[in-house]
Amino acid sequence: MSRRRRGKRKKLEKEEKETTRKRRRRSYTRRRREFDAEAWLKRNIEELAQNLGLDTLGLTREELIEALVKIVEELAGASTYIDVNTMVKRFRRYYDRIAPLIAANIAEVRAHMTKEQLEFVASNIGDFILIFAPKLYSEAKRLGYSEDLMQILQQQWIRAWINRRGTPIPPRCPKCGFNALTPDLTCLVCGVALSDKELKASPEFKYMFKEFIKRASTEELEYILKAGYVILSAHEVKSPKEPRTKVDIEIFLSANEKEEIRKELSNRRESQNSSRAN
Ligand SMILES: [Zn+2]
Repeated sequence: MSRRRRGKRKKLEKEEKETTRKRRRRSYTRRRREFDAEAWLKRNIEELAQNLGLDTLGLTREELIEALVKIVEELAGASTYIDVNTMVKRFRRYYDRIAPLIAANIAEVRAHMTKEQLEFVASNIGDFILIFAPKLYSEAKRLGYSEDLMQILQQQWIRAWINRRGTPIPPRCPKCGFNALTPDLTCLVCGVALSDKELKASPEFKYMFKEFIKRASTEELEYILKAGYVILSAHEVKSPKEPRTKVDIEIFLSANEKEEIRKELSNRRESQNSSRAN
């Protein structure tokens, strides 16, 4: 399935869920007077946002309400009436868990973010970065961020990947720097689709390939010349004979790279011969 179709399908599923949720909420209200998070927020949004320090992010009233409505609904629990102080206390109590939700909701309601918003989102997004990394990356680029913020995002991505999907992590994309390169050489974050040649042109691959050639046994190098490819993981280039994980990438070797291997083999033979001669 194409990425766009998949995206559409997800959107549809989400819309479906939302309409059933709305329907459920409406019929529930008829049975019992329930806490109405939206109405509550309309009355209290300024005070709540101020108490939570969200009033300095430059979000409109509507955006704040949209970003907080589901959380307020959750936090209200079975209460039918809650004052702002109690709500603020509940926010603070669960803030570690709530902050990523607020960040994700802000990323969702804003088509474009300001620097303040992006910085807030970047430092609070938690595991939701697995969903929002493409947007955060493109916003960071649009706003002209240098390495610092990108590194925060890249590290959050790795942490979230390990939290949710375990190890190992995918190899690093030479374009955006996220460990998000898939075995078909497309990137989950910046969306680039690389050729083998483009990937191999990256300094990181070149370095890892050289290290591998130095490290590999003569038998391994001879095997790779015949096989014509190596395996790339997040941290190293390795032989196809080594255990492989589902995020590893097969990289086919060009004539030049095979030549590098041949050169290494002949160097090894020469030094063996000269040590024998001595
Ligand atoms: Zn990328």
